[in-house]
Amino acid sequence: MVDETADVVISGAGPNGLMLACELALAEIRPLVLDKLPGPSGEPKANGLVGQVVRMLHMRGLYLKFSGCNGPPEPSPGWMFAAMPLDFVGMVDNPMYTMRMPQPRLVRLLAKRARDLRVDLRWGHELTGLHARADSVAIAVSSPKRDYRIMTSFLVGADGGRSLVRKSVGIDFPAPRRPPWAGSPMCTSPTRSVVPKEGSISQDSAGFRLAIAASIEAESFSPSSNPADRCSEPSNSPPQSPTNR
Ligand SMILES: Cc1cc2nc3c(=O)[nH]c(=O)nc-3n(C[C@H](O)[C@H](O)[C@H](O)COP(=O)(O)OP(=O)(O)OC[C@H]3O[C@@H](n4cnc5c(N)ncnc54)[C@H](O)[C@@H]3O)c2cc1C
Repeated sequence: MVDETADVVISGAGPNGLMLACELALAEIRPLVLDKLPGPSGEPKANGLVGQVVRMLHMRGLYLKFSGCNGPPEPSPGWMFAAMPLDFVGMVDNPMYTMRMPQPRLVRLLAKRARDLRVDLRWGHELTGLHARADSVAIAVSSPKRDYRIMTSFLVGADGGRSLVRKSVGIDFPAPRRPPWAGSPMCTSPTRSVVPKEGSISQDSAGFRLAIAASIEAESFSPSSNPADRCSEPSNSPPQSPTNR
């Protein structure tokens, strides 16, 4: 028996689920967001955002609001990932935009924005099972007050690395096994990024390729030259690079 119907259900109110919910709300689709946690997660994870998502936030008017900066995002001259410093000085169309922001704060801000956009956001409501049909999905939900069922046209699995949605529909999550710190990882940027409604951000200069040798000298990158450092801290976030893994 079905208790409710919804056009779109999003399982997971992390950064991805909440951002998607806000985007759908802007398109006048009112998604229902479920999260099994009693409230926004306080678990310390990422320390910021990297890449084109920063420009997308700016297009939505959220960069200045979230970052505490008083100007638009600027590309970063360098970056550090997994102890590998990357130097972007002189790169044409440098795509490396960054925004410092502890993940719990980002989740709180996006949850507030979702509420402001009148998204039906339900903390403490866990998706416990689903049955996919040709044109709909039946969902079982457990909450402190009641267990109930929803019929929806679309179910989005934004429920993290151990996603129940992903597993339930048989999508595997294979990871390549490579020895750590071996070889030269190769990164290729997308040649073109399209932003719905607002037009497109184009990187037509053939993108770029980076051959990252593990032996790059650490002094080639100075964190203090990062544009993110010129912004006032919106919270007591630690002075770390946006990715701290
Ligand atoms: C310890 C740690 C450190 C990290 N450090 C970095 C870093 O430095 N840089 C970086 O870029 N990334 C980092 N990450 C990864 C980053 O946190 C994730 O990429 C990010 O959280 C993904 O966001 P998401 O919205 O997809 O999923 P999540 O943030 O995982 O959110 C998923 C949500 O779904 C909810 N959920 C799960 N199952 C159900 C269910 N059945 N029903 C309802 N709700 C459900 C969860 O409660 C959660 O709120 C780190 C992750 C961890 C764990």
